[in-house]
Amino acid sequence: MTKQSKLIIIGSGPAGHTAALYAARANLNPLIFEGIQPGGQLTTTTEIENFPGFEHGISGPELMENMRKQALRFGATYLSKKVDRVNFKHKPFQIFDDAGQEYLTETVIVATGATALYLGLPHEQELIGKGVSACATCDGFFYKNRIVYVVGGGDTAMEEATFLTKFASKVYLVHRRNQFRASRAMQERLKKNPKIECLMNTTVTELKYDQNGLTAIMLTNLLTQESTLHKTDGLFMAIGHTPNTRFLQGQLALDDQGFIKTVNGTPETDIPGIFAAGDVQDSYYRQAITAAGSGCQAAIRAERYLSEIDSH
Ligand code: NDP
Repeated sequence: MTKQSKLIIIGSGPAGHTAALYAARANLNPLIFEGIQPGGQLTTTTEIENFPGFEHGISGPELMENMRKQALRFGATYLSKKVDRVNFKHKPFQIFDDAGQEYLTETVIVATGATALYLGLPHEQELIGKGVSACATCDGFFYKNRIVYVVGGGDTAMEEATFLTKFASKVYLVHRRNQFRASRAMQERLKKNPKIECLMNTTVTELKYDQNGLTAIMLTNLLTQESTLHKTDGLFMAIGHTPNTRFLQGQLALDDQGFIKTVNGTPETDIPGIFAAGDVQDSYYRQAITAAGSGCQAAIRAERYLSEIDSH
């Protein structure tokens, strides 16, 4: 049987949970699709020290679980299901889960996040949080006076490498080509930093580890094919993110990288009644706190949108 609701939230990271909390407290009885990775990217980090209000830090999974319980307390309904496809071409909007069940809704908040790209090396995924990271802002602090490696040649790699020099004694930037993709200004900043050394035409080909996590990486020079082993317990990936928007293709305006296009920095998309929050529409800040903030904004906009259509 078709299920109906006023507001459906897709995604359960900080953006989705915060939208759920605000919408539940506004009596919208939101339905939240938790997806295949409940809690989103934060469940792959260990300690979060930069989410305000937690003086001594909090683990990613615990923060997500707390947010979820808080939204549940006000009447949010969570479904451990994944959205398979949507039809935003007419109202009410249609959403289909992976079992083919249809849901009808007046508003939607898309908060499906983004997935950091990794190299695809053996054991890489199990070492995430144990020496392998895709977020220097989250994990850089744990590398005081250590030697770390950053992979990538775009603006993120420049920014992450520069940021890591606040903590690390030495940062090696590993890039597969002999030219950076990053903007000239970011490259200049990088070159002026004495703690950073660039290893061009180079790629990581193997990860060494013990029971505590990463211990060393194998680097291969792509011109000479020479491989060398480098001791380190910190490898940061900065090779891009993919927004989780495949199921939205042809339904919502997306930019050329697949991020949802929003209107003038608001959570509005090109379709009235469909809102976007968190990393799925933000390739720049990508922080738990900014995602939570945009989830709040999306819920407030959705609530106002619903009151406007109700009053007509
Ligand atoms: P980009 O896609 O710009 O860069 C990704 C980098 O990773 C490229 O150098 C690419 O190499 C490298 N790479 C990709 N796949 C692999 C792989 N399998 N192995 C090794 N290297 C790989 O992503 P960013 O995250 O850097 O930036 C995303 C967007 O955000 C950009 O538009 C950027 O300008 C913007 N941004 C802006 C900032 C600012 O203005 N302050 C800060 C951060 C991001 P190759 O070059 O060879 O393809």
